[in-house]
Amino acid sequence: MHDDRSLVESRLKRVLEERVIPAIYPESVPLRIGIWVAPGEPVPVAEGLAAPRTPIEAGAQWGAPWGTSWLTVSGTVPTAWAGKTVEALIDLGFDKNMPGFQCEGLVYRPDGTPVKGLNPRNQWVRIAAPAVGGEEVLLHVEAASNPVVLDYHPFLPTPLGEKETSGDEPQYRLQRIDLAVFDEDVWNLVQDLEVLGELMLELPEDSGRRYEILRAIERSLDAIDLQDVNGTAAAARSQLLGVLSVPATASAHRLSAVGHAHIDSAWLWPLRETVRKVARTTANMTALLDDEPDFVYTMSQAAQYEFVKVHRPEVYDRVKKAVAAGRFVPTGGMWVESDTNMPGSEAMARQFVHGKRFFLDEFGIENDEVWLPDTFGFAGGLPQIIKAAGSKWLLTQKISWSQINKFPHHTFLWEGIDGTRIFTHFPPIDTYNCSMHGREIAHAARNFKDKGVARHSMAPTGWGDGGGGTTREMIAKAARMRDLEGSAKVVWEKPADFFAKAEAEYANPPVWVGELYLELHRATLTSQAKTKQGNRRSEHLLHEAELWAATAAVRTGHAYPYEALDRIWKTVLLHQFHDILPGSSIAWVHREAEATYAVVAAELDTIIDAAQRALAGDPASGDVIVFNAAPHTRGGVAPGAGSRASVGSAGCSLSTRDDGGFVLDNGLIRVTVDQRGLVTSVYDIAAGRESLAPRQPGNLLQLHPDFPNMWDAWDVDKFYRNTVTDLTDADEVTITLDTDEAVAVRVDRSFGSSKAVQTLTLTAGAKRLDIETEVDWHETEKFLKLAFPLDIHTERYASETQFGHLYRPTHTNTSWEHAKFEACNHRFLHFDEPGWGVALVNDSTYGHDVTRTVREDHGTTTTVRASLLRAPRFPDPETDQGTHRFRHALVPGAGVGDAVREGCAINLPERRMPGDTEVAPLVGMDNDAVIVSAVKLADDKSGDVVVRVYEARGGRAETRLTAGFPHAGVAICDLLERRAADSEGPELVADGAIRLKLRPFELVTLRFTRRSTGA
Ligand SMILES: [Zn+2]
Repeated sequence: MHDDRSLVESRLKRVLEERVIPAIYPESVPLRIGIWVAPGEPVPVAEGLAAPRTPIEAGAQWGAPWGTSWLTVSGTVPTAWAGKTVEALIDLGFDKNMPGFQCEGLVYRPDGTPVKGLNPRNQWVRIAAPAVGGEEVLLHVEAASNPVVLDYHPFLPTPLGEKETSGDEPQYRLQRIDLAVFDEDVWNLVQDLEVLGELMLELPEDSGRRYEILRAIERSLDAIDLQDVNGTAAAARSQLLGVLSVPATASAHRLSAVGHAHIDSAWLWPLRETVRKVARTTANMTALLDDEPDFVYTMSQAAQYEFVKVHRPEVYDRVKKAVAAGRFVPTGGMWVESDTNMPGSEAMARQFVHGKRFFLDEFGIENDEVWLPDTFGFAGGLPQIIKAAGSKWLLTQKISWSQINKFPHHTFLWEGIDGTRIFTHFPPIDTYNCSMHGREIAHAARNFKDKGVARHSMAPTGWGDGGGGTTREMIAKAARMRDLEGSAKVVWEKPADFFAKAEAEYANPPVWVGELYLELHRATLTSQAKTKQGNRRSEHLLHEAELWAATAAVRTGHAYPYEALDRIWKTVLLHQFHDILPGSSIAWVHREAEATYAVVAAELDTIIDAAQRALAGDPASGDVIVFNAAPHTRGGVAPGAGSRASVGSAGCSLSTRDDGGFVLDNGLIRVTVDQRGLVTSVYDIAAGRESLAPRQPGNLLQLHPDFPNMWDAWDVDKFYRNTVTDLTDADEVTITLDTDEAVAVRVDRSFGSSKAVQTLTLTAGAKRLDIETEVDWHETEKFLKLAFPLDIHTERYASETQFGHLYRPTHTNTSWEHAKFEACNHRFLHFDEPGWGVALVNDSTYGHDVTRTVREDHGTTTTVRASLLRAPRFPDPETDQGTHRFRHALVPGAGVGDAVREGCAINLPERRMPGDTEVAPLVGMDNDAVIVSAVKLADDKSGDVVVRVYEARGGRAETRLTAGFPHAGVAICDLLERRAADSEGPELVADGAIRLKLRPFELVTLRFTRRSTGA
């Protein structure tokens, strides 16, 4: 037989596009349109509904960037349409390829009830089926003219990401706004032809099935009268029944589809727009659930449920009903889909506490699966946190974006730094926005790496990133692929049902140990420094606020600020969303974040101040109480205690060298600073050991050009290192402090359009060189690093993550190691040879790189560089411009325990309060390897004291933990402060103390039941 395959394929494409799809709506009449442009920010619904309308025609321009227009569309159903299905078609000027990235609308009835969301793939509103002739139609649309920020020419700098700079040029033109007859036969024919046409193209060219489908399609096209598609659609469909009813083969891949709309809590739109995005999508999805009995929809991010609850309660009522029916499924159990690289230990834990508690309180649901499809890499501390929160499964898709190495599994056990294993699934469909296209379905089946031992994978289905969700077309296509030869078998399923099946069928899944590093978006560890500093500062202020408020509550009856702490935690958690903390949002988002963090800091300072005032006693005593929130004794003050200020140590000296440089000495270390302000020696006096490599100065600021091939705020490409400028010229090097207690040198540098001022300080009694760097940054597309070439021979180094640290290699033997050229640290990095090491600690930076070279003297130089600032121009063209302050410290002679201690200390500086009362800690421990992560009152307001500790050095540890208050018992709990089901409770020893034995990096949450002192 002659091969006419391509002829029939081309025929299908043209007939579908030009004749069949347009025939879905064979008759239409225009609707009348009125518009009211809200001045400024969005207005309440009642105000929008009541505002006077001005007539406007289809074809008219509308919509300044970030504006809101209220449209009224009205008309009458023609009498001739009686008995037919009638829909309103509202095209606000959509580009059908950009749902969620441009204008959107929410449709209301005249009484203010939300109907559904409008987006490029959802322009219809069902009016009646069957229609009554003469029926009046009146709908209102709250239309948001959100501008297209990620343009057709992506990554060009744009002023559209900030309201003040976005102008008032109309962004859209109203298109078809009609009342129309919907022909369901034709619509079904479109779905039949699309499913078969797409499947056919994925089948092997020599397969019989492919040709059976081809011939059926040809017969169907023959049956269509192109001048009367509506009259012949049924006949055309009947030609396809045969090929559509052939069941799937026994070995067909099983695809668990779940309706979904990934909604970034802020990104190319501000937080306030997300509130409306969520309302539109959830209105749309609850409506779709009513229409489609097999459909299941899932939504993550408790914060987004709260957005709907507060801002669109009518929509929330529909969500609650659908959740109760088991068809709208809360997933993830986190407050937001956060970044997981940068959030600190407690914050990562609280993402689950607040997410899970919201679902429990609102719906009585606790889900077992963690849902992080789009997060930029996964820290090695996460598995233990997932388990401690009571969850057991993880879904993510993002690792498929890795630039270099292909991840070897789609279903596997992920083992964290402490040994906890979590059953994890990467959907092989390689998208969290599946559209049920045949190409995607076939890719999932082909791509699945666990074939032969597993058969199930997942497909989160629906328009996402900016919302939108699943469409009726996706559901129709899924129904046809339920049991269809040549296709994977598609069913709608809850995430938990998928995970249960996947786990049951896979007895011994492969194991991946350590972080799930994303080989992309590495610059998100540095971009938007103020957002990152706000996060780090807030996390530690929250630690202090809980600690001192709990101490004051237990000791003095001071009122514990439950509501304020709950609210502030949720604010900080919201800003850990995977486009806010990573610095990849528009200027508007980061400007607001900076202001929000300032409010958070002020409020927490007030809480801390009030608690310490309550504890410190007589403010007129003339004494001062020093409070230590760090988890190790400092200056003689125990962790969690307050003590009278003691006289500080002495013994510092500063001398000027003949060459114009300086020598700073505190008896523990001796630091040499040359006339250029570079550190040429950091000498550990007791060990007789130099920290820095010979003739390679430390404290070196280095400037690289940084213009990635795409994703400017997200990415730094490896070639940035090919060009570097060492900032060795100093404007001035001066002594700023020269006392027995401390000595300091200040270095001023100018470079490009920027200035850097660094202060290098040695304090008596502290084996550490403190470096404060203030940068007035006005560069464009540059990367600023702070380098320390260490004289250390090691193949790996430690980097702090949640509840511990992980090791990364210093070499690039394999492509996997080569790809990790920029990585995340929390408060410390640690490098050592047996018996001696160096730590670099920081108060607010996350990105770093480590490289090694072998010198002519055969020694190894291990260079660590902290990433300070970038200046990408998309999506915020002014990223990081302005003044920034960073604190780092180099700690010679440090073991990993010293790195832990100094990392905590630099983030939790001591506080002083006038007073005369010594404050004993609520919790005492006798092993420095075990540190306190949180001390707080229980969230249930019972007054119980909750203490979370963990082993911080990576070894086994035993500690005696003493409660500094009377208690009636103690239980081991999960993160939600519930008694752990499998726990017998800690071992009690004398005087109400307990003995804890911890595995490496093990976290333990204890809950002490209070006993009143008077009883
Ligand atoms: Zn996202």
